[in-house]
Amino acid sequence: MMDNTAKNLDGSRIAAEIREEVGAAVAALGEHGVTPRLDAVLVGEDPASLVYVGSKAKTLTVLGMVSQTHNMPATTRQAELESLVDDLNADPEVDGILIQLPLPAAIDTASILRRVDPAKDVDGFHPENVGLLQQGRPRLVPCTPAGIMEMLQRERISIAGRHAVVVGRSDIVGKPMAMLLLHAHATVTICHSRTRDLAALTRQADILVAAVGVQSLIGPEHVADGAVVVDVGMHRIADRETVERLYPGNEKKIATFEKRGAVLAGDVDFTRVRPKAGRITPVPGGVGPLTIAMLMANTVTAAKVRRGL
Ligand code: NAP
Repeated sequence: MMDNTAKNLDGSRIAAEIREEVGAAVAALGEHGVTPRLDAVLVGEDPASLVYVGSKAKTLTVLGMVSQTHNMPATTRQAELESLVDDLNADPEVDGILIQLPLPAAIDTASILRRVDPAKDVDGFHPENVGLLQQGRPRLVPCTPAGIMEMLQRERISIAGRHAVVVGRSDIVGKPMAMLLLHAHATVTICHSRTRDLAALTRQADILVAAVGVQSLIGPEHVADGAVVVDVGMHRIADRETVERLYPGNEKKIATFEKRGAVLAGDVDFTRVRPKAGRITPVPGGVGPLTIAMLMANTVTAAKVRRGL
């Protein structure tokens, strides 16, 4: 039987590897007089978004890149936001533009995402980048699925010919994940909220990706023995009873809960699924750090592509 550390897919370690490579690429660009710059646009004061944008900005700076955050009030109008995006598109110093989601309900998100110059679209959400991915000519790929592919490849998990089941069909995770797995020659099934008998499908998976947004939806009954399980979900659990139920006897989790008043959990019931899985990503320390690392990598890609380097 594998020991604990070998079974877990250590996203934090792989993300550190990617960051190191990005740092080296930034240094190499510096020799051409180029310092990649990412501008984040944050509308309103959603606490989670503030944390995400802050941590992205910090990582960019640590890796030698320039980070600029544009804080706009929640009352910002569509036209004002469009004009900011136009300015960033036109600014030759700006390599990447990140529109932090969710935007306030009064803003037409799809139209703002379409307005971002596709060459600066580090999130890979612009229809041109979505189309390139679909055609198997990826340029800027959404960070979360791109990070998952990096992890699978670096961990030498074979994909070709295997059955990958993706639960979730969002534009941000599920759909691009399915497309990347398809291009890597997996046989792909996409499940969603209208799927009948989810467990019957997920049990067929060699590789199971859960991007559902429902805490602990995926239990042992959804997983085949030896499957690779990737948990994209991110949920803050702030009540002790749930923490004790999810992680019985796990003193580390209880200690984290006591220290921070909450723990993070995923879409997979980690404690119960782990004994069945061949490999599994923990939450935290799995997909989350990979997402940020790939944003860094995409910023370097955008800086290079736009300058023809
Ligand atoms: P989303 O836009 O809410 O999409 C969720 C998907 O799951 C939808 O396609 C939905 O189906 C499907 N779904 C919901 N309930 C289901 C059920 N009971 N059975 C089967 N499918 C169901 O979410 P998302 O943006 O993809 O994010 C998913 C999760 O990942 C969230 O917890 C989010 O916080 C997390 N996330 C984490 C990272 C990271 O870096 N770790 C990055 C992005 C997202 P329908 O399409 O039919 O509604």
